[in-house]
Amino acid sequence: MKTCQVFAAYDRDATTQHGWAYCPMCGSGLVRPTRGEPEKTCENPACAFVLYRNPTPIIAVLIVDGDRFLLCRRKRETFEGGKWCLPCGYIEFHEDYLTAGRREVKEETGLEVEITALLSVASNFLRPDIHTLAVCVLAKPVGGAACPDDDVDELGWFSLGDKLPSFAFSADRHMVERYFATRLSGAPVDLAYARQV
Ligand SMILES: [Zn+2]
Repeated sequence: MKTCQVFAAYDRDATTQHGWAYCPMCGSGLVRPTRGEPEKTCENPACAFVLYRNPTPIIAVLIVDGDRFLLCRRKRETFEGGKWCLPCGYIEFHEDYLTAGRREVKEETGLEVEITALLSVASNFLRPDIHTLAVCVLAKPVGGAACPDDDVDELGWFSLGDKLPSFAFSADRHMVERYFATRLSGAPVDLAYARQV
């Protein structure tokens, strides 16, 4: 199966600017970048702050139990609401990504998991203002009781032979299909963070 790690839902070269108008350090105006440069700079020479723009790191967790995997239906009001995705979420500034993965799974599904491998990393150009860098890990359930919560309103265990629901993110679908097609073992993870100790 072809490997894919970059998923673009729009022409990402056409729109690279962000909407900030004023410098967050001194309140002066921000100077628009020349075409092709995504960062803005403060117009106050004494400040010279540069506002960089970077993708947002998120964690996505493929939970596998035998031949089944878990998907979450996103609440209506969320981005791509009503569609399905792997348990996922933003990595907080104070968190390592393995702990973030266990936390997001617990918040969205009620399940406790042990992360068993690092599967892939994907660039997701979802919308001109949403670009995520998703770390995808493999996990197995080790406890808890399945119950949708947070920005999820339904959980479902699926097998690849089932009629699958509409996926919110192409990267998730690719990751699921690739895992079951290849059973790639992935890279080992640090168990001090990958499971509750
Ligand atoms: Zn400034």
